[in-house]
Amino acid sequence: MIPLPSSFRERLQTQLGEAYPDFEVALNQPAPVSIRINPAKPRLNTDGLERVPWCDTGFYLPERPVFTLDPLFQAGAYYVQEASSMLLAEAVKQTVNLSKPLRVLDLCAAPGGKSTLLASLLSDKSLLVCNEVIRTRVPILRENIEKWGFPNVVISNHDPEDFSGLAGFFDLVLVDAPCSGEGLFRKDPKAVAEWSEASVQLCALRQQRILTEAMSLVSERGVLLYSTCTYNDEENVQNAAMLAEQGFQSIPLDFPAGWGITEKKSGDLTGYQCYPHKVKGEGFFLSVFRRKSSTGLLPNLPRNFKSFKPLQPKQQAALQPFLQNPTQYSFYVKPNGDLLSLPTALTADFLRLDVALRNKGMGLDLGTFKGTDFIPSHALALSSIVSPQILGVDLTKEDALRYFKKENLILQEPAKGWLLAKYEGLNLGWLKGVGNRVNNYLPKDWRIRMDIE
Ligand code: SAM
Repeated sequence: MIPLPSSFRERLQTQLGEAYPDFEVALNQPAPVSIRINPAKPRLNTDGLERVPWCDTGFYLPERPVFTLDPLFQAGAYYVQEASSMLLAEAVKQTVNLSKPLRVLDLCAAPGGKSTLLASLLSDKSLLVCNEVIRTRVPILRENIEKWGFPNVVISNHDPEDFSGLAGFFDLVLVDAPCSGEGLFRKDPKAVAEWSEASVQLCALRQQRILTEAMSLVSERGVLLYSTCTYNDEENVQNAAMLAEQGFQSIPLDFPAGWGITEKKSGDLTGYQCYPHKVKGEGFFLSVFRRKSSTGLLPNLPRNFKSFKPLQPKQQAALQPFLQNPTQYSFYVKPNGDLLSLPTALTADFLRLDVALRNKGMGLDLGTFKGTDFIPSHALALSSIVSPQILGVDLTKEDALRYFKKENLILQEPAKGWLLAKYEGLNLGWLKGVGNRVNNYLPKDWRIRMDIE
């Protein structure tokens, strides 16, 4: 039995009334396991898997495998995500015109579950800024975004108040707020241990501050989506009500009754709550708003990037064989020699972000030149812009795992130069053939530490 804090139990008894015992029974059942497949890397066989009703790429698994030891997981073919939080997909589809190029901000992004979901929904002309305020959480965010392979991204490390230079810039802002985590009690015993009345109040206030910053970033008629994984009204309804009072209109969503999602109303506000006794997933809340008020003007655009220079034509030419559709990208070099690509159509947006945000990585990290040799990055191998013409080496599952242990592999047929390690047609990363050997270019930080036997 999960040892529920007594005042949490009282709160939920008041909130749920007669349904409370069902809630407590559900909390003591095992949490369902669910994944969301990457439509850009459709390799996983989903035949026979139960679907998550509100997300066409979401599936339940009958049991929890060791994901680390699945090369398809390492290649970004799917993300392990709790099912209720995939409701975001349906909320976005109902409120945003996804066929248009959009500027999207995920303000509280690590480890990247919702950012990868958004990346899968957006058109290839859209821009996604994934921000995480806690520096130590940025590497896992970057790793998950790189695995997903969407190249039109900025990963930033800022407090929400640092975004003030981007007032009115975004068509969609997601605040998936840090919360008291009541909805995660079944999955995470730490969430139970850390819960207190004081933490609810603290989280509610922190969210208020984040939302206040977030509101100013939304364009006129743009959308603000607020979500938490908790149940209490202080964090959810009251904060959402604050938005409704400040120039944002709550947008009602249309969910079939059979999905089991509970509508929460307060004045003009409509929010949606997932409870584990009514949906196959954890506790989750979301509400969606449209900005009614107009926004101020953005500052003039600078002509050049502050932090990097255009790449020399000769080096650009050396990159071409590695890229698919290189004409759609512009290439730059940072002061430390690292190269990056930005989608040319979004140059103005990237210029604006370059001025407004100090701590960020923009676009796709391509690699670097050592003398005249181009050393491609791991992110390029996993991205959708790597050339399909590059010679690949199909690995067995055992060799794929040895690749992720960063062992050197022996190839049956010797090959020279850069090769893509592949598993079931998906790129895993780079190998370089030298004589009879191939060197393994998996970044050290990506090495799996688990025993693969
Ligand atoms: N959206 C993520 C996902 O789907 O994988 C989960 C986000 S988690 C619920 C909330 C995030 O907000 C955490 O990564 C946390 O570090 C970050 N956070 C904590 N305090 C914050 C603050 N004051 N402002 C903005 N973000 C904050």
